[in-house]
Amino acid sequence: MTDRKISSGSAYYMPSPIIHRQSETTARLKFVVVTGGVCSSLGKGITTSATGALLRAAGYRVCSIKIDPYINVDAGLMSPYEHGEVYVLADGGEADLDLGNYERWMSVQLNRDHNITTGKVYQKLIAKERAGGFLGKTVQLVPHFTNEVVDHILKVCEAPVCSSGKGPEVCMIELGGTVGDMESQGFIEALRRLRYSILPEDFCLLHTTYLPVFGGTQKTKPTQHSCRSLLAQGLTPDFLICRSEEPLHAEIREKLGNQCGVSAKDIIGAPNVDCLYQIPVEFANQGLMVRLLHKLQLPSRVPPMDVPNYETFKSFVSVLRNPANPTIRIAFVGKYVTGGGDAYFSVLQCFEHCQIALAIKLDILYMESETLEGASAEEAVEALKACDGIFVPGGFGVRGIEGKVKAVETARKYNIPYFGVCLGMQVALIEFARHELGWADANSEEFDATSSRQVVRIMDCDRNQMGANMHLGARDVHIIAPESKMGTIYSGAAVVSERHRHRYEVNGTYLEDFRKAGMIVSAVSDPTQGADQLRVEAIEIPSHAHFLAVQYHPEFISNPLDPSPPFVSFFAAAAKKKFNWPHECHPRRLPGGM
Ligand code: GLN
Repeated sequence: MTDRKISSGSAYYMPSPIIHRQSETTARLKFVVVTGGVCSSLGKGITTSATGALLRAAGYRVCSIKIDPYINVDAGLMSPYEHGEVYVLADGGEADLDLGNYERWMSVQLNRDHNITTGKVYQKLIAKERAGGFLGKTVQLVPHFTNEVVDHILKVCEAPVCSSGKGPEVCMIELGGTVGDMESQGFIEALRRLRYSILPEDFCLLHTTYLPVFGGTQKTKPTQHSCRSLLAQGLTPDFLICRSEEPLHAEIREKLGNQCGVSAKDIIGAPNVDCLYQIPVEFANQGLMVRLLHKLQLPSRVPPMDVPNYETFKSFVSVLRNPANPTIRIAFVGKYVTGGGDAYFSVLQCFEHCQIALAIKLDILYMESETLEGASAEEAVEALKACDGIFVPGGFGVRGIEGKVKAVETARKYNIPYFGVCLGMQVALIEFARHELGWADANSEEFDATSSRQVVRIMDCDRNQMGANMHLGARDVHIIAPESKMGTIYSGAAVVSERHRHRYEVNGTYLEDFRKAGMIVSAVSDPTQGADQLRVEAIEIPSHAHFLAVQYHPEFISNPLDPSPPFVSFFAAAAKKKFNWPHECHPRRLPGGM
């Protein structure tokens, strides 16, 4: 492959830096851009993740960038109701949940720079302008904003994201929102500039659309219009990924090919599926990978052993559809369970990883924690008692806290396997302090600043700002009790790395009281610190069927081939099933692992 010469003086093409950087490397970086048309929530994230996963399975190193055209700098202060969960990256970046999909599906570790927002780009441009970086110049959307976006993308692509330690060969870029949105125009122009500054075989655009059905016919007009909107902004789709209730009809594929300027072979149906892992299977069955590799001029490689491939995805689907073991009922006692959003997206993905690992089916009883308070409490407790396990996820704010405490009390009193994450650990301490230690007003400083027994207290943080002021990202977790559950499930590792997102912590002053009453601390952040300084990472009640709670969020680094140990432990206990823990902890779970 030789680099084509592109005139750097052309107004149409970007000036030389991109070409220059592209030709410096022996293998040129390829870009696969995913846009969306017609409506939101079509599954662009899954399209990006599944395509990236298939490229990984084809032997390529892949990274993935999410562009969110909103003005927020990051997702840290966005409501889980409005925007789904805030995903936490190893470097502490608080990102859109799609970054979690990329990490899980593509077996990569990304950083905060892999999530670009309008706010982030403007923040950088404005800081540069104030520092005199553009002296004399008018700073504009084009070319300053657009150049900043392209430069950012190229810079991000230098970072290795997988265990090989080498930089990516393919960069997936998902553009949030729908083409035609006012707020995404600057980004589309940036992508257009990127497109025309590199060779045609180094750029590929997958446009995701929706085919509504009227009178039994899949309608193509909305797709035609969204392709036209893309064309009007200077980009042509190479592939159409058509979401629909049913498989894509052959005549519709032809029609779309004629109307949208995309070869019929490159129009891929994305019918509704009962299991997300079916999506890469559908894509591969329709020839997406063969065509994509051909378009990008990427030769076939020997598939690596450590990432899922076509066959692995098929096996995931098969276990999820027909698990060998009976169904277990799990209570999910959260604060954001109603409303049908994605507030607990990674947790639920992690549940699926455990279902695959244990070959179990889950029947999840979603319970708003407030139903365990007031008039409905008795009935709700009865429903909990009928469950095989009780799970309390993370959360913020006082609403529903008493209900969560009730859920812990039920699990403890009736010896029902319990697992708590973050807030789910903090409420476990509150419950234990109130009912075992007899400290009736025990609470967290977050919920009752006047409590005489603040068993959970605020950590050191900058109280003058809200964004990114929590304890965030991958931190070492020292397992101090090798004989504990933590010791077993992490296969004897003394130190592991897990991701965090919290502002409050266990108050070390009372640890001795808890220990004497039967609750132990099995992991801490730093064992060299005294009781008052150390941060508790895991607690357990050894006399209970299964009572484990952790301060960190193990769901964030779970993936289908390496499900999160504390979650697996919980489900295995709920299913009364023995799990054979590996002899050694997976290297990606150790500090510095990817
Ligand atoms: N609100 C608690 C804290 O900030 C728990 C946070 C969480 O569950 N992520 O510490």
